[in-house]
Amino acid sequence: MTAFFSKKDLERLAGPRAYQRGVASVPAVDALGTSGAEITATVYGSEPWQVRLDRRPAGLDFSCDCPRGMAGDFCRHCVAVGLVYLDGPVSKNRSAEVAAAQREIAGLRRLLGILDREDLITLLLDCAHDDHDLRRHLAARVDALVQPGSDVNDTELRLADVRALTDPASAIPVYKKHIEARIAARNRRDYAEAARYLQHLKAAYQRLHRKSEAVAYIEGLRAANARKLNLLEELAKRGL
Ligand SMILES: [Zn+2]
Repeated sequence: MTAFFSKKDLERLAGPRAYQRGVASVPAVDALGTSGAEITATVYGSEPWQVRLDRRPAGLDFSCDCPRGMAGDFCRHCVAVGLVYLDGPVSKNRSAEVAAAQREIAGLRRLLGILDREDLITLLLDCAHDDHDLRRHLAARVDALVQPGSDVNDTELRLADVRALTDPASAIPVYKKHIEARIAARNRRDYAEAARYLQHLKAAYQRLHRKSEAVAYIEGLRAANARKLNLLEELAKRGL
């Protein structure tokens, strides 16, 4: 079957951005088959997507079951299948290994989905135990995923606790933000939490040999909140 479309057609149908993404998805195309005027293939993305390109009198008919495809767009997967078809079997063979890897990854994604959170964490830590690069990579990726908000969220706080061991200076602003927000919430439980994190803050300063700054900060808080007796009591309980 001679091609009933060109790369220019693919680019025109998809638009420049989806076209570029389609170029990147070429290695993920698998199981390309043709029947009559119909081309079908699987493209491995976050899931395996089913793509169909079809010659119709009115032009190129297409479908892909990814969200964009379902919305009627000529998506990156359609582009990728079109490109693999146009480039012929050579590039398809060259990409067979990559496609096999993508299939494996898609399977692995499903397997990992079975695990609960604790098991996943244990598994990742096991893998990272003897792999320094993986440890650094994971830390950087988690960092990038955590969006700092106006209030300190749990994840930020836990990250700060981890960082406090190796890079205490980076934990200090997070601790201060948390402590000040808890004090501003004006209730006993929040005061207790603020006191708890003042201890974390103090330890972080101590690791940096800047204990006097911790003392000054705590004194400043005490002076600014001298009338919050419940807070002062919580501080006293922890020897602050
Ligand atoms: Zn698609």
